[in-house]
Amino acid sequence: MANSALLLCTDMDGTVIPDGRHPEAPDARPAFAAFCAQPHVTLVYVTGRDRGLVQKAIAEFSLPLPDYAITDVGSMIYAVQDGAWTEWTAWNDELARDWAAMDGTGIARLFSEIPGLRLQEESKQNLHKVSFYFDAATNREHLRQTVEKQLADLNLRCNCIWSVDPVLGYGLLDLLPKGANKLLAIRFLQERLSVGQEDVVFAGDSGNDMQVFHSEIRSILVGNADEEVRQEAVEAVTQSGRSNLLYCARGFYAAGVLEGIRHYQPHERMEEGR
Ligand SMILES: [Mg+2]
Repeated sequence: MANSALLLCTDMDGTVIPDGRHPEAPDARPAFAAFCAQPHVTLVYVTGRDRGLVQKAIAEFSLPLPDYAITDVGSMIYAVQDGAWTEWTAWNDELARDWAAMDGTGIARLFSEIPGLRLQEESKQNLHKVSFYFDAATNREHLRQTVEKQLADLNLRCNCIWSVDPVLGYGLLDLLPKGANKLLAIRFLQERLSVGQEDVVFAGDSGNDMQVFHSEIRSILVGNADEEVRQEAVEAVTQSGRSNLLYCARGFYAAGVLEGIRHYQPHERMEEGR
C-alpha cells in the first residue's frame, strides 16, 4: 500500500530530544531521521525553542532538518527549504490582529512586578511572546490567580502557558496573544498547506502540548512523559469522547514517536528492529 502524505508535527525537548531522565534506544533518533527522510513525510517541529535554539538542537542531537518549524510556543512559523529559514509573515499578521492594543515590552514590565516572576533572557522574547521564570517552590495556584487577575484588570486576551523544566526544576510561564499557541499554529499551517485532518499526527510530552492533546488532532504522548501529564491528557480525551485521538506510547522519546505513528498508520514503513 502506498503511503499517503503525512504532516508529522512533533515537540522537541523531551519528545525527540532525550532529557536524560529515561534511557534512549540507540537507534531511536537514526530511525526517526530515516522515517522523516521519506518524501511523503512533512516534518514540523513544534517547540518552545526559538529559531536559534532549534538549529542548535538539530546539530547537537543529529535531528533531521524540518520542512517547517513552529517555534516560541506557537508564536512564530518558519518554512525551511534547502537550509534556508523563511519567516511566515502571514502568521505574524494573524497574531498582530489579536495583540493589536498590546506591546510585548509593556507586558514584560507590568508582569515583572509580580513577586515570584522573573523575565527570561532577551533571546526568549519576541514580537508575540513574553516569557518568565518562576521558582518551582512558588505557590503556583496563588501565582496563577495573581497573573489572571492582572490580565483581567488590563483587559488582555492572552494565552498563559505554564510548564516546569524537569531538568532544571524551575517553572516557565509564557504569555502569548490568544491566537498564538501550538494548536492554532498547527491548524494555520495545516490549512495553508491544504492538509486534511486524517493526514496530521502530533507528538509531545508536557504541559505546553496539552492543547493539542485535547484537540481533534491525532496525538502521541511519549512514554517518558510525567504521569501527571498523562493523566490530564487521558482524562481530557475521555471526557470529550476522543480517546481514539490520543496514543500513550510505551517507548521513550523518538522511539515513542515512531511507535505512535505505527499505531495510527500501520502501513508506514519503519526501519526499526533490523
Ligand atoms: Mg517537550
